[in-house]
Amino acid sequence: MAKDITKAIYNEKIPAGVPWHMVIKKGQSLRIVDLEGCQAVDTLFYNAHEHEERYSASDTVREQGSIFITTGTKLLSSDDNVLMIMTEDTCGNHDTLGGHCSAESNTVRFGYDKKYMHSCRDNYLFAVGELEMNPKDLTNNINFFMNVPVEEDGHLAIEDGISKPGDYVEMRAEMDTLVLVSNCPQLNNPCNGYNPTPIQMIVWDE
Ligand SMILES: [Zn+2]
Repeated sequence: MAKDITKAIYNEKIPAGVPWHMVIKKGQSLRIVDLEGCQAVDTLFYNAHEHEERYSASDTVREQGSIFITTGTKLLSSDDNVLMIMTEDTCGNHDTLGGHCSAESNTVRFGYDKKYMHSCRDNYLFAVGELEMNPKDLTNNINFFMNVPVEEDGHLAIEDGISKPGDYVEMRAEMDTLVLVSNCPQLNNPCNGYNPTPIQMIVWDE
């Protein structure tokens, strides 16, 4: 059943290209809205009380038997605990193989002149400073709304997004979970339609 926006305990618009983080307590729900469509939302998850326990893409993929993240997916931690469960998804599938963009990946993929462009890793490092975490805590992430089809030969592509304006994902915390987002600033591939746009973050107590 659709949730009542007026009952949300948090409801903020996050500009394109910036980091965001919040602890979602056990039982609370987080909705991420792709306001204009075709925006990649690079997201990391941690045990809020012990950051060494974090989202594990390989455990999540193995346990659900699928490489895509959608309704019903249990986001598993490196200790095999469920951090969050995906409860709604109006888009269809989300990537957890592609990782997040960085000065290094921009340089290798797009050329030396792209090295200094703003990246998800810059956003994450900024947040790591705020949260007194360690850069080593930055591991695999989910790219909500990012379209990464896997071809027959196993090749990963990054293609035009399929999310429409207003598409959203919703997830419920099964344990107190620190959610760390980079609203991706990438301009060199179609993950954001070459035009990064804002997102809306909404939290409910249930
Ligand atoms: Zn990025």
